[in-house]
Amino acid sequence: MIPFFIQKLFFYTWWKGKMKMCGCIFCKMASHEIPANIIYEDDLCMVFEDINPQAPVHLLVIPKKHITSLNDAGDDDGNLLGHLLSTVAHVAKEKKIAGSGYRTVINTNAEAGQTVFHLHIHVLGGRLLNWPPG
Ligand code: AMP
Ligand code: ZN
Repeated sequence: MIPFFIQKLFFYTWWKGKMKMCGCIFCKMASHEIPANIIYEDDLCMVFEDINPQAPVHLLVIPKKHITSLNDAGDDDGNLLGHLLSTVAHVAKEKKIAGSGYRTVINTNAEAGQTVFHLHIHVLGGRLLNWPPG
């Protein structure tokens, strides 16, 4: 029987290797391999500032687990998706845009303009946002 801490070490090494191999920038940010301006973090998700903000408040909410896009979220990801949305509401309050209003956006695949293929929710606020979007 392999001791529990050795099993944990194997799992951690395997997980880090997997994340490195996949070369996903948001996985690297989620594992603190690449720095980010982190606003909030828990076991399941991370929220950080967008590097190219499109509004005075522009945050990205990501799952720590790699999911390529909303198309790739499975039936067993329902709780995680719910958690991402409640985290949006939480950070919107923290950033004081909950009352004035904010927009959440999930770009999925090329025609929607997805450029980073790790599921993320944009949270935009702090200015008047036009509708319909471009
Ligand atoms: P999307 O076009 O919906 O895939 O959004 C990707 C977003 O990730 C863009 O708004 C980028 O500005 C943002 N982004 C890319 N690299 C980084 C980074 N290293 N740190 C923070 N935001 C990033
Ligand atoms: Zn990823």
